[in-house]
Amino acid sequence: MTSEAFDFDLFVIGAGSGGVRAARVAASLGARVAIAEDRYMGGTCVNVGCVPKKLYVYASEFSKGFTDSSGFGWQGDAPTFDWPTLRDRKKAEISRLNAIYERLLEAPGATIISGRARLLDPHTVTVEGQTFRAQKILIATGTWPYLPDLPGKEHMLTSNEIFDLEHFPKRLLIVGGGYIATEFAGIFNGLGAEVVQAYRGDLFMRGFDDDIRQFLAQEVRKTGVDLRFNTNPKSIEPSANGYRAVFEDDTELEIDAILCATGRRPNVADLNLECTSVGFNENGFIAVNDEFQTAEASVYALGDLIGGEQLTPVALAEGMAFARREFGAGGHVVDYDFIPTAVFSQPNVGTVGYTEAAARHSFGRLDIYRSEYRPMKHTLSGRDERSMMKLIVDQASQRVIGVHMVGPDAGEILQGMAIALRMGATKIDFDRTIGIHPTAAEELVTLREVDSD
Ligand code: FAD
Ligand code: NDP
Repeated sequence: MTSEAFDFDLFVIGAGSGGVRAARVAASLGARVAIAEDRYMGGTCVNVGCVPKKLYVYASEFSKGFTDSSGFGWQGDAPTFDWPTLRDRKKAEISRLNAIYERLLEAPGATIISGRARLLDPHTVTVEGQTFRAQKILIATGTWPYLPDLPGKEHMLTSNEIFDLEHFPKRLLIVGGGYIATEFAGIFNGLGAEVVQAYRGDLFMRGFDDDIRQFLAQEVRKTGVDLRFNTNPKSIEPSANGYRAVFEDDTELEIDAILCATGRRPNVADLNLECTSVGFNENGFIAVNDEFQTAEASVYALGDLIGGEQLTPVALAEGMAFARREFGAGGHVVDYDFIPTAVFSQPNVGTVGYTEAAARHSFGRLDIYRSEYRPMKHTLSGRDERSMMKLIVDQASQRVIGVHMVGPDAGEILQGMAIALRMGATKIDFDRTIGIHPTAAEELVTLREVDSD
């Protein structure tokens, strides 16, 4: 069938990180592109993810600054926090970003269609009663919070609702031990709530380096978060002053709100994928080949819902590679090696490359370098906060294959490390690099004492 038989060359479902990037790039390469969005331009990251989260992290860090400032000579009472001000100023900023995303799509000529899209066949999409034929369909509908099936689950909030609460929760239970749970424990603790974070296993942040997980637990507890392991709620019920959570060991907790952050699942309900051959992998994510093509030749998928790292820069890279390959010169692939990531917990975690356990499995003998120190700022603030850095080096080649950090600005520091690791930097390259003084980052080029196995 010729492309004239179609209304569009590409119909993108979902204007989030991956969908917007794919639509923009494809349109700027001359393709006739439509993009359907049923909630908010910019998707999860802009509306209920990275952006508002980071704004709330900034808000929550001031309380620590007010306390610490007395050690530097500042006197007087700390200001009080007003939740509606933060919430409403955040809303205004997100509306500004929504408009920018709309313009970014309109500028190269993409058609924006508002509403929930559904497939009618492998080339046909319907949105609010209108039907469109497209040569290629790209599903970029992201993921949606998953809640465990327990009595009273309807009383739990997810990250979708937590940003816009009418009232600030003074006593908050957070369920989960991953990115969202740990970041929001820091946010609400810093904003003045009593926070209990309950994780079902022995140690939270599964998948991160074990030393980092342990060190983070110790530091998070010092900030005042009541971090509990091997505990999980079995039911939630309304109580006189809020909610009562009953845990598996029959202990109870009275709280004002419960945030459930127990992972996310592909947002594919109502897409009617049954009318295609699109298949799923064993974890329920859409299965695609290296070119983001599903088992249905005209249907593609990328971003969070294909089950890789659920990170905005990954969805952006996939959107770019897809559009260039399909509508540009071709040949673009995403390189998934050494993806850096940060957890905006308090303190931050930054990580790139292999954990010690994964490196032992893949490389065998390692040189491990560790440093634990008190940040200079806290010599005067008096705060009992420590930072940690860890380098994982393949003993045979002396290549640095993992860098992990817990401490202020870990995300900022690790971005540069990701470039070094991708370029194959060795420990000698690190040693020869002159530090920037006085910074925390200089520690990474002055680590000399090795723990070999
Ligand atoms: P999304 O951004 O989720 O976009 C999907 C879009 O599709 C949505 O706008 C949705 O409304 C729309 N949609 C769904 N179904 C339909 C339909 N049938 N019709 C029309 N439209 C539809 N990543 C980071 O890298 N750094 C961070 O700091 C970070 N913080 C996060 C904090 C939170 C609380 C959360 C939840 C996520 C965070 N992430 C972060 C992850 C990041 O948001 C995602 O990786 C990213 O948004 C994935 O982009 P996507 O295009 O796959 O999907
Ligand atoms: P995560 O996968 O990070 O964490 C989920 C947590 O919930 C884990 O601790 C998991 O435990 C626990 N869990 C899963 N199922 C249950 C259950 N039935 N009962 C109790 N606990 C359960 O998911 P999040 O929801 O925190 O975040 C989703 C994704 O969004 C992240 O993976 C990340 O990719 C992205 N994100 C990125 C951020 C960033 O870049 N800074 C910030 C926020 C989100 P267990 O480990 O035992 O399975």
